[in-house]
Amino acid sequence: MSDRGKLIVVSGPSGSGKGTILAEVLKSPDYVYSVSATTRAPRKGEIDGKHYFFIERAQFEEIIQKGGFVEYAEYNGNYYGTPLEFVNHNLDQGKNVILEIEVQGAMQIKKALPDALFVFMTPESREELEARLRNRGTEEEDVINRRLAIADREIPSALLYDYVIFNRRGEQDKAVEDFFAAVRAASLTPARQYDQLKTYFYAK
Ligand code: 5GP
Repeated sequence: MSDRGKLIVVSGPSGSGKGTILAEVLKSPDYVYSVSATTRAPRKGEIDGKHYFFIERAQFEEIIQKGGFVEYAEYNGNYYGTPLEFVNHNLDQGKNVILEIEVQGAMQIKKALPDALFVFMTPESREELEARLRNRGTEEEDVINRRLAIADREIPSALLYDYVIFNRRGEQDKAVEDFFAAVRAASLTPARQYDQLKTYFYAK
């Protein structure tokens, strides 16, 4: 295998603290974050081009038609998609590209690009997840309940990922370490090390 970067797909319920963990990971120059496009409205404090590219439905559908997304999904009434060009360019540069996406999109990637690394992050319990969603304070009650219902549906999908990271309260450093451990382990598979391995095959 070449020095192409690794595509790392991270999913987990909203309120799982993925963002905080990934912010730590992204301090490393080896990693870049793929900014998604979405049709949902920006939340308070969200910046266009940093958190998401906030676009209209018609524009989103046009990009779908042109094949401009690695994957896309409809979630909670809005479209979310991963821009193809950014991902390919950075993988070619040898960067590890992190996609923070929901389960349907992750499963599209699993079919198309099984060599990617799939990581599921979640708090240690449903109670903790609910507490974090409520403390975030940026959402109405019905939005919180909808997000909890989505989490209840999505958590069993964790079984389809390569690794699960529990982001326990007060143990964020450990979750970051676990993330790097997962990436390290994924780099040790025979497929990822085939170039070195194959030198043995022709040695005799
Ligand atoms: P939020 O509205 O809370 O920012 O995101 C809702 C969900 O959409 C989260 O699970 C988030 O990870 C996911 N998401 C964000 N960007 C993308 C994307 O490009 N594709 C897919 N499939 N999901 C995304």
